[in-house]
Amino acid sequence: MADNSTFGMEREARMTLERKIVVSTQDIKTISYECKTCGARVSFSPDKALDAMGQCFSCKAKWKEETPSVTREDGNALKLAEAVAGLRMSEQRYGFRVLFEFDETKISN
Ligand SMILES: [Zn+2]
Repeated sequence: MADNSTFGMEREARMTLERKIVVSTQDIKTISYECKTCGARVSFSPDKALDAMGQCFSCKAKWKEETPSVTREDGNALKLAEAVAGLRMSEQRYGFRVLFEFDETKISN
């Protein structure tokens, strides 16, 4: 029976442990826009979609074009915030929920 226990230990050592973080829209506490220049953040409730400002409130670095007509991509942050707020409301009626999965070892802060 000594052979069996050795075999058992080998099997255990070869097991890969994958740790994932799965988050639903209901788990989101705040959404933040973070300045790439100074790190200042504007945080808001995921139930209230807020558009990003044209410049950083702290260091005044330019965040995006002020005029809404320049590119369609300028509105993507607001669209995401609106989609999250909308999902949090409407998911209660759905038979499914939206989940975001993160690799625990790759999360930045
Ligand atoms: Zn800044």
